[in-house]
Amino acid sequence: MDFPQTQRTTLKRLPKRGVYDRELVYRILDEGFVCHVSFTVDGQPFVIPTGYARMEDQLYIHGSQVSRTLRTLSQGIEVCVAVTLVDGLVLARSAFHHSLNYRSVVIFGRASIVEEKEAKLAALFAFSEQVVPGRWNDVRQPTDRELNGTTVLSLPLLEVSAKVRTGPPIDDEDDYALNVWAGVLPLRMVAGEPIKDARLPESIEPPAYTLNYRRG
Ligand SMILES: Cc1cc2nc3c(=O)[nH]c(=O)nc-3n(C[C@H](O)[C@H](O)[C@H](O)COP(=O)(O)OP(=O)(O)OC[C@H]3O[C@@H](n4cnc5c(N)ncnc54)[C@H](O)[C@@H]3O)c2cc1C
Repeated sequence: MDFPQTQRTTLKRLPKRGVYDRELVYRILDEGFVCHVSFTVDGQPFVIPTGYARMEDQLYIHGSQVSRTLRTLSQGIEVCVAVTLVDGLVLARSAFHHSLNYRSVVIFGRASIVEEKEAKLAALFAFSEQVVPGRWNDVRQPTDRELNGTTVLSLPLLEVSAKVRTGPPIDDEDDYALNVWAGVLPLRMVAGEPIKDARLPESIEPPAYTLNYRRG
């Protein structure tokens, strides 16, 4: 089911790039793992980058209990979250028509604390899966002390829009005759060779998920 368009999530600029399709929004959210969370404290706006995970129709963020961002958001104030994936550089024949191919999502809402231990663990598992699928089961699980020192917030995915640009540059008709290269330079996130920790015993091999790491 599509996200309902609200006054806040209706695109005014290039509305044809707007997407409210839930499956597409979820695909964008699942490909990323860094969001920018914005909120206001006493009239002062803040934008803070942080990791996230999506599970069903909730977006989770987490961090230290003493984090200002988490303490502030846990009061249930209005928050706006953005996720951006850059897919390519769009090189046009004129400076004006240069662009980016991208997929982005903007979410409005109010977050709440995940209190219950099992739900908190499920969210932490989701964070781990969002970044490195398969990692969680290899590592020591959180102690109660670690769990108590971590705040997990969930933000319901209710008021959400995506905006997507794909395809070649769109030049002014006269400019197609110019002797200038034009097209798209695709960009993607690529993992390098794993660098082992200095204290790792020789006998421990890098897991497959580090050797074959891919996103998207
Ligand atoms: C890619 C990425 C992923 C992250 N993932 C997480 C996560 O999952 N959980 C988590 O708790 N934190 C994460 N962080 C760190 C996060 O950005 C905050 O620094 C942290 O959560 C502390 O928040 P706070 O509100 O207590 O910051 P405070 O220390 O209260 O912030 C005070 C001021 O410090 C500056 N500041 C804070 N953070 C940053 C920053 N990242 N870059 C530049 N200036 C900054 C700002 O001016 C801010 O107003 C991540 C950061 C990045 C870049």
